[in-house]
Amino acid sequence: MAKKTTEKEAVCGFCGRKESEVPLLFRGYIDACICSDCIEYANSLIHKDAPKKQAEKIDITSLPKPNEIKEYLDQYVIGQDAAKRYLSVAVYNHYKRLACVGDDNAVEIDKSNIIMVGHTGTGKTLLAKTIAKKLSVPFTIVDATVLTEAGYVGEDIESVLTRLLQVADYKVEEAERGIVFIDEIDKIARKGDNPSITRDVSGEGVQQGLLKLLEGSIVNVPPQGGRKHPDQKMIAVNTQNILFICGGAFDGIERRIASRLNTHTVGYTSVQNVHKIDADNLLQYITPQDLKSFGLIPEIIGRLPVLSYLEPLDRTALKRILTEPKNAIVKQYERLFEMDGVKLSFSEEVLDYIVDKAIEFKLGARGLRSIAEAIMTDLMYEIPSSDLQQYVLTLEYAKAKIEKLNFAL
Ligand code: ADP
Repeated sequence: MAKKTTEKEAVCGFCGRKESEVPLLFRGYIDACICSDCIEYANSLIHKDAPKKQAEKIDITSLPKPNEIKEYLDQYVIGQDAAKRYLSVAVYNHYKRLACVGDDNAVEIDKSNIIMVGHTGTGKTLLAKTIAKKLSVPFTIVDATVLTEAGYVGEDIESVLTRLLQVADYKVEEAERGIVFIDEIDKIARKGDNPSITRDVSGEGVQQGLLKLLEGSIVNVPPQGGRKHPDQKMIAVNTQNILFICGGAFDGIERRIASRLNTHTVGYTSVQNVHKIDADNLLQYITPQDLKSFGLIPEIIGRLPVLSYLEPLDRTALKRILTEPKNAIVKQYERLFEMDGVKLSFSEEVLDYIVDKAIEFKLGARGLRSIAEAIMTDLMYEIPSSDLQQYVLTLEYAKAKIEKLNFAL
């Protein structure tokens, strides 16, 4: 679209061509002009560079060391030293891997996805949530129970990454170096020894799908999660640098561990190899072989090279959970009452009573809160309008509340 040449023809301030030589010239303030070609070129530069923009480089020296990460976890999670150590090291190494990304000469560090096995309510999710607070990469917790094979009711496996994208504000480069905690991984174990009898849509099929994510590949993620559908725009996410931490209760796995340990000891004559087995905490002897016999496929187990366990919580641990963590249940009630100007204190007997009830109802640490809440509700109703300055919770009061409620869970 050539323009008529005039005496004082305006020129593009970027390419120097005259108005008659360009398709369209835009005039700006005073004599500033830019032609449509230059606008397009600038636009292409902006968009060409955008995907290349690197996520902020990780500075290893400024990051918390494994022992610092563990110390932080110690403030919120009681016991579980083995799992804490594994997690701290894995997260620290994850940062190191990220620091090496793009350095072609460096030795490539392999990803060490983790699997944590422990009874329900022993602190797996709590560990994951607590570590998330300390992290400088996107972190999310997803539940494996909602996942099914493509084409069945449930969510597509790729939706595991949707949450991570959301946490990273849809910044793909950020999400690609994040950490995903997959809870209840045991629920996608193969249902039977013979997979051909029925379709195992939420079991082995999901494991096969998950494998793709764990081993590092480019995955098309539905930005809103749920099921993929043809009209939906997908976001391509590379999972190569995403760290996966899996957790599961693996109910009944102890029987498999016990039988494996027994078969190993039978006929074993070397005295130095026969060590006493701690029957109360068989999970500490867990091996990848046990996960396989539980129903995880070997390929998945191979992609979760770090295997850790959580200890069962005994009476002492439960009592510590009530009082010691930074946000311990008892401390929370004390704070609530303090806001009304009342100094609340729990007698030792009450704490023991709450622990006893949690054990009796087989609720573990998860039950401590509901039992405490049942005891405290009436008090929290009455105390704010009283003129008390101090309140000591006695065993009689606690017992009366629990018995009155006929607490049967
Ligand atoms: P799960 O192992 O089933 O994921 P959670 O981490 O969800 O268990 O634990 C349930 C609740 O029990 C937590 O929110 C926390 O209040 C309490 N809890 C469990 N284990 C511990 C622990 N080791 N230290 C402190 N609190 C714990």
